[in-house]
Amino acid sequence: GEGDRDLPTGRPPSVDLRIDTPHSARMYDYFLGGKDNFPADRQAAEAALSIFPSIRTTALQARKFMTRVTAELARSGVRQFLDIGTGIPTSPNLHEVAQRVAPDARIVYVDNDPIVLAHSRALLRSAPEGRTAYLEADLREPERILRSAEVRETLDLSEPVALSLFAILHFVPDDVNPDGIVAELLDVLSPGSYLALNHATPDFVTPEVEAQVTGLYRAQGIPFQSRRHAEIVRFFDGLELVDPGLVPVHQWRPEGEPEDIPAADIASYGGLARLT
Ligand code: SAH
Repeated sequence: GEGDRDLPTGRPPSVDLRIDTPHSARMYDYFLGGKDNFPADRQAAEAALSIFPSIRTTALQARKFMTRVTAELARSGVRQFLDIGTGIPTSPNLHEVAQRVAPDARIVYVDNDPIVLAHSRALLRSAPEGRTAYLEADLREPERILRSAEVRETLDLSEPVALSLFAILHFVPDDVNPDGIVAELLDVLSPGSYLALNHATPDFVTPEVEAQVTGLYRAQGIPFQSRRHAEIVRFFDGLELVDPGLVPVHQWRPEGEPEDIPAADIASYGGLARLT
């Protein structure tokens, strides 16, 4: 496909994957039952599981939330997606969900991690009617993302775009001004665009568990900051929250009966809002 020109031909990009150091994206892959992880990742992941045994449920429900939101957006006519903090490819990926409904959907994936870039080929297998691109960039540099060839050549910003920030904003602490970053991205989007996100929360867990989870990430140099409902809902300021609002992810428009999972096992809110 056209997106392949983002990669050196025939070879995976040569990056230092630092496989002796645990990595959040590979830990996440391990929680999801993926194979793109190494002993150091599995060890750190097991440590996290001993503190918060339901992490696997959390990760699976987060992916299911992404799937429901994306399918819903495609069904409601959205044809363009900007997904920041994509993660290691996991079936189904966002473009597969969107293109199952609308084969002509266009998707730009963004992540700042070379490990995700190394696996990005799976993200570039677009349906022939649509298009996907991968951009290595940092959410903390929104203007670089917006000015990139990948965004400009793949998306038409005069038409609605669904901006997705799935499980990434809890890696952007307050001192980096996540509100400003989100506002800057939304500022260039047209009416009818959407913001979808899910975010870790301490609202349902004990302060001890919260402190241990945060400490585990920070010990690996990952700036983790979970947020309370009122702090997360602020990201939607000025937008029209879509029903049922910001809720534990498994309660967001479940297909059929909502799964009977305690909110404490998920510890993550999800929501969708529309630009008017
Ligand atoms: N969105 C996926 C993966 C979430 S894991 C899902 O919900 O299943 C979080 C991802 O965000 C990781 O791949 C990590 O590399 C990426 N990430 C974290 N901070 C980032 C930043 N500042 N800029 C871009 N990507 C970031």
